[in-house]
Parts: sequence; structure tokens; C-alpha cells
Amino acid sequence: MLTLLISDPMMDEKMDEIKSLNVPIVKKFIYNIPVLSKEILNDYNQRIQKTDYLTYQVRKNVNSCLYGQIFIAANQEIYPCPYLRDFKLGDLHNDTISSILHKGEYRKFWYMAKSKIKPCNDCKHNVQCFDCRAIEYSVEKKIDSEYYCSQRELF
Ligand code: SF4
Repeated sequence: MLTLLISDPMMDEKMDEIKSLNVPIVKKFIYNIPVLSKEILNDYNQRIQKTDYLTYQVRKNVNSCLYGQIFIAANQEIYPCPYLRDFKLGDLHNDTISSILHKGEYRKFWYMAKSKIKPCNDCKHNVQCFDCRAIEYSVEKKIDSEYYCSQRELF
């Protein structure tokens, strides 16, 4: 499943190429998606999510937010997330979506499971704990750090 976050409804003109990828696609316009706040990330009770067995197994190896997702900005640049603009994956003026997916740079973000992030790798909740790399990155400009966790003093 590929989730396309799109900032511009006019991106519909690109949908022919997107459909030709032959993968199940969810298209979301970004003004419709909720933005996770620092308050929620700091609240242990809100960030630990109930998960079914299948989700639990998948999340052991992938990032709970970024997995399966790319964002197409209004200027046709592609990023892993609307808020991770330091990590451009490509540009639809020069690339196709399939060539960007082939290059595979998105994988670093899709497979950034909490089990690979310190100190979450030692935390028993690391599969059920929701992650926002963009908010964490905004603190120290490190894509693999964890700052907004009320449990971090315990480690
Ligand atoms: S240490 Fe990481 S996995 Fe554990 S509660 Fe905090 S943010 Fe979640």
C-alpha cells in the first residue's frame, strides 16, 4: 500500500502515472490530516496505541507514521513527509514516481522502526509507541533521535 500525501488537488493530472504503478494507493490531501503535537508525544498515555496482532508484527520493522508514504509538494518535489523538507527524495519535473521509488531513498524513512532508535530500542513499548520523526528532527536536526518522551528519564 502506497500513501500519497498531496498538497495540491491539481496533482490529479499526475494520477495516470500513479495508477500505472499497479499498487494499492491511498491519496490524502494534507489539509485533511491531523498534525501530531509535541504535547501528545510527551504524553505517554496518548502515544502508546492499542494494536492488533498484524499491525504489531509489521511495526516491529517499520516506522509507524512514515511507512508506505510519500509526500508530493505543490512544486512537485517529493519528500517522506510534509514536515521533513530537509530530505528531498526527488522532483516530478525530472523524475517519475516509479524512478523515485526505484532509487529507494525512501526506505531509510519507511524502515526507521523505534527498535532502531535510541533509547526506544531498550523500551518495552517500542512497537506500540507512535512516532513522529518530523517533530523529533525539529529539536536536534537528528533524524534518529528521541526527545519528546516522558519516559526518557527511565533509561
Ligand atoms: S522510550 Fe521510545 S518507545 Fe518507549 S515510550 Fe518513549 S518514545 Fe515510546
